[in-house]
Amino acid sequence: MASPDPGRIDPAPLAERLRGIRARIEAAARRTGRDPTGITLVAVSKTREAGEIRAAVAAGQRDFGENYAQELAAKREALADLARIRWHMIGHLQRNKAKLLVPGIHMLQTIDSPRLVEALGRRLAEHDASLDVLIQVDVAGEEQKSGAAPEEVPALVAAIRACPHLRLRGLMVIPPFTAGPEESRPRFRALRELAEKLRLGEGERELSMGMSDTFEVAVEEGATIVRVGTAIFGERGR
Ligand SMILES: *Cc1c(COP(=O)(O)O)cnc(C)c1O
Repeated sequence: MASPDPGRIDPAPLAERLRGIRARIEAAARRTGRDPTGITLVAVSKTREAGEIRAAVAAGQRDFGENYAQELAAKREALADLARIRWHMIGHLQRNKAKLLVPGIHMLQTIDSPRLVEALGRRLAEHDASLDVLIQVDVAGEEQKSGAAPEEVPALVAAIRACPHLRLRGLMVIPPFTAGPEESRPRFRALRELAEKLRLGEGERELSMGMSDTFEVAVEEGATIVRVGTAIFGERGR
């Protein structure tokens, strides 16, 4: 018998892991009396091959997240035949890279400065396109290189609402990658409380929070979007 092609991805284990994650999201939602259908699972596919993403799509996954503009743009091109994929940019976006992503991505989760709002607005206007965005918040004013301080968020909300090409959808937080579930919980709660304090409108209340080790706690604290990489695709090489 011929040996298996090493470039070919066996889709069965990936589909099984995806089913497991979706079941855990559902269970966490029900524990806190939430409707699990209101929670979007974003599969974080950074460093993953196009073939692995195809396998995830075949298993019913639709939303994918990437951290680097170039990598996202390259994969979007390689997978252009899969029209149902929705790409989420979840890494810091430099203003001069906006043209790699806009138009064409589903959501930018990392707005953190008025200058980025301006650059995106210009780029989108040229293409007469619009984009869903989240504001990335550094809720604890700590270790992050990116993310707006909580006191900067009201001005960002106003700037996004004033831009006819951007649609504010909510807030996002990235706790330190080393923080476990209970260490992350206060940050998740702080993001939810900030959203409440801001009186965000209907359609502006997405909360993107929670990763492989923390998504269940994030759902308990009100996450509507969770971003899961390792628990779906396995450990990353880099
Ligand atoms: C890499 C990454 C994730 C996923 O992390 P895992 O621990 O692999 O689930 C989620 N959010 C952001 C912003 C990331 O950079």
